[in-house]
Formats: sequence, structure tokens, C-alpha cells
Amino acid sequence: MENRIHNFNPGPSALPLPVLEKIKDSFLNYQSSGMSITEISHRSKPFDDIINDAKLRTIRLLNLGDNYDILFVQGGASLQFTMVPMNFLPDAAVADYVNTGTWSTKAIKEAAILGKTTHVAASSEDKNFSYIPKNLDLSADAAYVHITSNNTIKGTQWHEFPNTNGVPIIADMSSDILSRPLDIQPFGLIYAGAQKNLGPAGVCMVIIRKDMLEKIPANLPSMLKYTTFSEKNSLYNTPPCFSIYAVQLVLEWIEETMGGLENIHEINVKKANLLYDLMSDDGFYRGTAQPDSRSLMNVTFRLPSEDLEKQFVAEAMEKGLGGLKGHRSVGGCRASIYNACDMKSVEALVDFMKFFEQKNG
Ligand SMILES: *Cc1c(COP(=O)(O)O)cnc(C)c1O
Repeated sequence: MENRIHNFNPGPSALPLPVLEKIKDSFLNYQSSGMSITEISHRSKPFDDIINDAKLRTIRLLNLGDNYDILFVQGGASLQFTMVPMNFLPDAAVADYVNTGTWSTKAIKEAAILGKTTHVAASSEDKNFSYIPKNLDLSADAAYVHITSNNTIKGTQWHEFPNTNGVPIIADMSSDILSRPLDIQPFGLIYAGAQKNLGPAGVCMVIIRKDMLEKIPANLPSMLKYTTFSEKNSLYNTPPCFSIYAVQLVLEWIEETMGGLENIHEINVKKANLLYDLMSDDGFYRGTAQPDSRSLMNVTFRLPSEDLEKQFVAEAMEKGLGGLKGHRSVGGCRASIYNACDMKSVEALVDFMKFFEQKNG
């Protein structure tokens, strides 16, 4: 479709074009109901089918056993920073957190606000969060180990998950969920705000191992405990129907058009390598993440000067390549190349980067 840009936004971010077209085509009259998806009841059969299909597809894509449940919660990943310790960290216990950047830091902060005890088992702050720590100082009896699987702002990603000796891992996978196959075994809970790799903003997917539900205290506010969502199929109150519908379509696209997680991962590796191949420590483009910790989703890099970075972002936009400015807290440049960012967009960016370097290098 003409006049759509190559979209490298970090979030909200690109959605697959076939998904947007499907939404458009059925927007005024969803499945002959005579109503838009935004007008039907969340207690109707069409919506029940949507939410159940989204759950089933997630279960199939990740190969989950029936000991896992899928929940849809509002409040973004940021509310999960609060809900996780509220539900799983008793006052007398400790939880281990690995601090790999802005989002991990916020997760730790929210636990502290609740008066909970956290132990930072490892941190990469000493090198400006440019790597994923290898050695963790785990507590003997932690309630859980919290990690951020992909660091959207710093451009790092866990490529191998830590061995926690059976202590459940709780992971913020907001920016890399369903970007690669996953061995679910060590995870007690995974959460992901939809607006990076799953759909539009407004809903957060939670994958929870059912034994975790048994640990949740009864005296929490209804909307802040996972049991409420699990018992009511995420329909205790009105859910964000449209966002869940769009997530369902993205899941369908991953399964049926992209052929599942192995395939999408292979494409994601190719896309990222095209960009990382342009970078070196003493070159025009300098990757900010250490090579063994580089993210396949968010490629962060610097140019020789801040002026050149500004010029790079502006000229790219003129050529229809958008969203390349680094996060305001770190500066530099960032190309977010989630599942929905296709190879053609990355190739267009590579061409532009070569052209820009020739002109200014
Ligand atoms: C974007 C992001 C968040 C914050 O998500 P919200 O849905 O805006 O609360 C948290 N963690 C990670 C890893 C993110 O990329």
C-alpha cells in the first residue's frame, strides 16, 4: 500500500499490514453481526470466540501444556511491575531481580513502593546496561527471579535464560514475546504489553503457570490479583475488546502466514544481522550493546556525533523510514524491528545507512 512508511517505532509499533487490512474490512460489520467489533458485547459469542481463539493460538505457538493459563490485563507492563510482587512476594520473603536497564529498574522500584524485599542478583549498570550479566548471585530461597528478556531501550536481550534451580522465573517479555521459540519450563509467569510485538496498546498478555495461582493471597483488590482474571477468563469486568481482537489477528498471522515461531525467529535473525553487519567499534555506526548480548528486536547504535545522529533521523524520515530516534533517556539511534517489521523495511534501512555513511563518513 502506498504512503505507508517503513516503521521502526519502538512502541506502539508496526502491525502486520494484512492484520490492519482485515480490521479495516470487517470494522463496520464484524462477521455479519451488523456491528463493529467495538460495538459488540464482551459477553457475546463472537467475543468469546475471539478471546478463546487468542488463548488457544498462544498455547499452540508456545507449545504450552494445560498447566498454563493466558490472561488479558489492562494497565500495561507497568502495572505488572506492581502486580507481580503484590501477588507473589510475601512480606517476609525475598525476590531476586536482575537489573538490565530502565524497565528492570522500574520493576524493582515498584516492589520497593509496596514495602517488599528485593535482592538485585546481578546488574549491568556498571557498563551502562550494555550487556546481559552471566553470573547471578541468587538468594537461597527467593520467591521468584525477575528478568527483562529484551531491553527495549538499551538494545540487549537474553539469549540463554539463567538456571534458577527450580525457582520460578518471572519475565517481562514486552518487546520480544513470540519472536522466537521458548522453553516454557522455568517460567512461572510471563507478561508482555501488547504494543511492541503483539498488537495495539491497551492490553497486556500474561502467561501464568497454574501452580502460581495457588500462592496468591485472597485479600488483594479484585482487579489486582491474577486469580480474578483466571477464574473469569479475563472477563471479570469489560476487557479492552478491540485490542484483544487485534492481538488475536496478530497471533493468527504468526501461525498461518508466518508459519510459527521457528520461522519468524529465522527471519528476525536475518533482519538483525543485516543491521549489525554495518556496525563496528571504530566504524561510522557503533552498536551500543556488546555483541553477545545484542537484541534481535531493538538495534541501538551511535553515529560519530549527535549532529550527525539528528541529521540521520531527519533524512531517514524524508525517505520514508520512521521511528529511528533512540529513547530520550539514552540518545543515539534505534531501529525496532519486531515481528511485524518486514525484511523489505530492513533492506530499505540498510540501503539508506550505506548511502548516509558514504555521504558523511
Ligand atoms: C514498553 C515496555 C514496558 C512498559 O510498557 P507499558 O505497557 O507502557 O506499561 C515495560 N517493559 C518493557 C520491556 C517495555 O519494552
